[in-house]
Amino acid sequence: MTVRHKLLAVLVVTALVTSVVLAVGAVQLVRDAVRDRYTERIAAETRLLAAWLVGERSASELQEFAVLSGDRLGYRVTLIADDGKVLADSSQDEAGLARMENHSGRPEVRQAMLEGTGDSERLSDTTGTRYLYHAVRVDGPGPVRIVRAALTTYQVERAQLRYAGLVVLVAVVALALLCTAAYLAVRRLSKPLEIMTAAAERAAGGDLGVDVPRTGGDEIARMAESVNRMKSALVRKIEDVDAERRLLASVVSGIKEGLLLIGPDRRVRVSNESFRRIFGVASDPEGLLLAEVVRNPEVNRELDVVLAGHAEIREMVVRSPETGRSFELHAAPVQVEPGGRSSGALALFFDITRLEALENVRQEFVANVSHELRTPLTSIRAFVETLLEGGLDDVENRERFLRIVQRHADYMGELIDDLTDLSRIETGAVVLERAPVPLCELARDAAARVLHRHPAARVEIHVDVPESLSARIDRRRMGQVLVNLIDNAVKFNRPGGEVRVVGEHEGDVVRLEVRDSGIGIPSESLERIFNRFYRVDKARSKDVPGTGLGLAIVKHLMRLHGGSVRVRSELGRGSTFVLEFPPA
Ligand code: ADP
Repeated sequence: MTVRHKLLAVLVVTALVTSVVLAVGAVQLVRDAVRDRYTERIAAETRLLAAWLVGERSASELQEFAVLSGDRLGYRVTLIADDGKVLADSSQDEAGLARMENHSGRPEVRQAMLEGTGDSERLSDTTGTRYLYHAVRVDGPGPVRIVRAALTTYQVERAQLRYAGLVVLVAVVALALLCTAAYLAVRRLSKPLEIMTAAAERAAGGDLGVDVPRTGGDEIARMAESVNRMKSALVRKIEDVDAERRLLASVVSGIKEGLLLIGPDRRVRVSNESFRRIFGVASDPEGLLLAEVVRNPEVNRELDVVLAGHAEIREMVVRSPETGRSFELHAAPVQVEPGGRSSGALALFFDITRLEALENVRQEFVANVSHELRTPLTSIRAFVETLLEGGLDDVENRERFLRIVQRHADYMGELIDDLTDLSRIETGAVVLERAPVPLCELARDAAARVLHRHPAARVEIHVDVPESLSARIDRRRMGQVLVNLIDNAVKFNRPGGEVRVVGEHEGDVVRLEVRDSGIGIPSESLERIFNRFYRVDKARSKDVPGTGLGLAIVKHLMRLHGGSVRVRSELGRGSTFVLEFPPA
């Protein structure tokens, strides 16, 4: 039941009860007043008739008088003698009059005889009708002693009914007016309340955009204003919370590390993109059980420990078979719910794949260097031992032995020089001194140096670079690049083979090519020859001196110049190394 209906019901019931009580009271009053008025009238008129009847009258005069006055006044008039005999009666003719019994016993007649006036209300024995009687004694000469007027109660009641009907009509109209006024007042009062309730319900349902209308200046209007202010404050609060939530969400999703927050119920509360990538989860796993999301029993076990015993996990290495990557897991208990006794767990997965790879590279590098150094060192040791144990006396062989020792020592020196060079280039310690350098001249110098190194080589070197071709490069470093490439081209050639250095430019891009007619490189090795210590086939290059670092140095020096190096080769036919310099 709405407030409007309740108020209306109370007001209508009150109005109805009031109207009924007032109407009943008023009807009673009206009934009494009508009856009193009639009684007073009869009394006054009967007194007048009595005054008229003093003196002698004949019987017919009396009957005529009774009929005439009864007719005019509208009621029954009876004239009675001292002994109670009825002398005249307006309701009877002469014969009827003769039949009428003595009236001295009638209560009103008896009372009037004694007191001068008498009243009664009763059924008439003569006419069988109910009457209101009033009798007056005639004090004076004449046959008439008592004048009695009789009014039928029906007449009185009819008048009473007419007035009561009027009262009831007035009561009904008043009730209708009261109800209408109550309805209008209640509607006026309850309308803003209903609008406010509807707005509050809409707000509860999430629609905070509509204001409660404010009408007038009463308490309800003030309440509407308060509701509107409350709503605005709520909207502001929600916006603040929303902004904070968005900020937090963007921070969480922006974190490179995998992030996972689990509640005390072992269900996922928050996770970020990185976490989903690590564990191959397609959609947001919020609300799922940890075991459904992370299918790694070890991780689940450890996180259970964090959830149960407040222990922390540090640096636990986790491998993801799905992605083949490695992660370091850090987890700690956190308070997920404010004031909650049991805590959740926050886990962070750091990707250490690259670190591990770097560590592997480092270990491999150390192993390679040790290996490369150990071989010549072992030879040096062996020959020095041979010399010490009498080899010095072997005049024929001692110089040969010493030359071998020298060659290996040179090789070790070369290796250390190359390593130092490479590490300086890689760490950026080498600063290029760029200047325009004619490439033809640079290539000729490099070729001469290589020929000097290999005086016995039966390989021809042709330099076919236009005199005008030049590039802004570091002369010394680029000389080193060309020497490395031409040196390889000679080393991995065949007797009677040739090496050709060709230069050209394509637009602004300057290109140098070192082509040889040598043994070539198998296609599966093409990718790897620029790696440190890589040699195509240890057996085939066994007799060819080299550190395996030359092409790695070439690659890094070209990168430092902003250029590139690539190779194409055909096994058994030769290789071509292409250097490209970007426009200066
Ligand atoms: P190295 O000191 O052994 O020459 P590099 O880094 O210069 O080291 O070369 C790596 C390997 O690449 C060589 O050992 C060789 O097997 C192969 N290689 C390089 N240049 C050529 C070439 N012109 N023809 C055939 N093989 C080559």
